[in-house]
Amino acid sequence: MTSNAPTRFVLPQERIPTAWYNALPDLPAPLPPPLHPGTKEPVGPADLAPLFPMALIEQEMTQAPTVEIPGAVIDILRLWRPTPLLRARRLEEALGTPARIYYKDESGSPSGSHKTNTAVAQAFYNRADGTKRIATETGAGQWGSALSFACAQFGIECKVYMVRASYEQKPYRRVLMETWGASVVPSPVDQPDHPGSLGTAISDAVRDAATRDDSHYALGSVLNHVLLHQTIIGLEAKEQLQLAGEDRPDVVIGCCGGGSNLGGIGLPFLTDEKVRLLAVEPSSCPTLTTGKFEYDFGDTAGMTPLLQMYTLGHDFVPPSIHAGGLRYHGDSPVISLLVQEGRMSAVAYPQGKTFEAAVQFARAEGKIPAPETGHAIRAAIDEALAAKESGEERVILFNYSGHGLLDLQAYDDFNHGRLIEA
Ligand SMILES: *Cc1c(COP(=O)(O)O)cnc(C)c1O
Repeated sequence: MTSNAPTRFVLPQERIPTAWYNALPDLPAPLPPPLHPGTKEPVGPADLAPLFPMALIEQEMTQAPTVEIPGAVIDILRLWRPTPLLRARRLEEALGTPARIYYKDESGSPSGSHKTNTAVAQAFYNRADGTKRIATETGAGQWGSALSFACAQFGIECKVYMVRASYEQKPYRRVLMETWGASVVPSPVDQPDHPGSLGTAISDAVRDAATRDDSHYALGSVLNHVLLHQTIIGLEAKEQLQLAGEDRPDVVIGCCGGGSNLGGIGLPFLTDEKVRLLAVEPSSCPTLTTGKFEYDFGDTAGMTPLLQMYTLGHDFVPPSIHAGGLRYHGDSPVISLLVQEGRMSAVAYPQGKTFEAAVQFARAEGKIPAPETGHAIRAAIDEALAAKESGEERVILFNYSGHGLLDLQAYDDFNHGRLIEA
């Protein structure tokens, strides 16, 4: 007997959101301003102008409740958006839980993760500002590949500083970047024996952009405008949950590296106090769960503005776990403030536990998640098991931030007992 119970909730293309949700006016406390790395005074738009186009600097600070999405951006997002919301019924069955588990699938974008949502917007505003070239950093390559794709759409040259360890060990995302026309170099550029980190790669990219008139810089996470662009995820998911007959999720879950996919799915639910928000991070880079809430630099060399955030220290070098996108010493100031104010909670898992969850998900639902996404899945499964324990119906929503088809070495290590316990 087949069941007609729906598992996919799909919005028609014309229902793609036309404005992003801005969380800044709805935060429980004012966001402390970024500080100049030299003077330690609050930075003004002029300080940021060598790095970013003015439209993005304005979005970084705006108190407007929404920001209109430019038509040219929507035209490109329509290549894969709206993304589907799925109900993980087969996973629910495998767990024997009364919880209803939904996930928003961002893995169908050209580069395979949510990062294209902001990459397209950032490339658009740079193009409108006359930027000829963008320099950026990338860890395992998800952000670099998203930006390479977006720059190709707008005819902008793209230079990517890739963390050396990944550059040498993970060639396939470099191949994506080069296929979309970017040029990729290992970082740190001046220390050929150093394995690199996101912090060193940001230093390289900022130095590049700040010293060339034709170039700007772009960051794939952390900053307010990045989270703003990602809110399209949660705005769509809200409508799709209605299609599924749900009033609201009880909990919204995202893995957290710099906070952009988590903010993207979670912030549109911010003002609904009945919705819990949950950040998931690796035990080996436990920024929100054990870091200090203080001003710190975004990069290793101390060239970026200081941000008030949870941080492990800007010289912290995390062990090389497979979830490269979660290896960042700091976190988004918006996400950090929500945790500090008690509006969001955070949990950390060792990587073995996240791969167990990722494999359980893959065997039930079919898709192979990115190692980063495995963190969100771990927490979603634990929420579902807690609901089973207490016998309550719980509505769980998590963000499926990307696929793991270019992370198969990680699965091979897990499958054959070679994963380091970090
Ligand atoms: C980059 C990345 C992350 C982590 O970055 P956030 O800014 O915290 O979202 C998570 N999942 C995937 C698939 C990524 O590529």
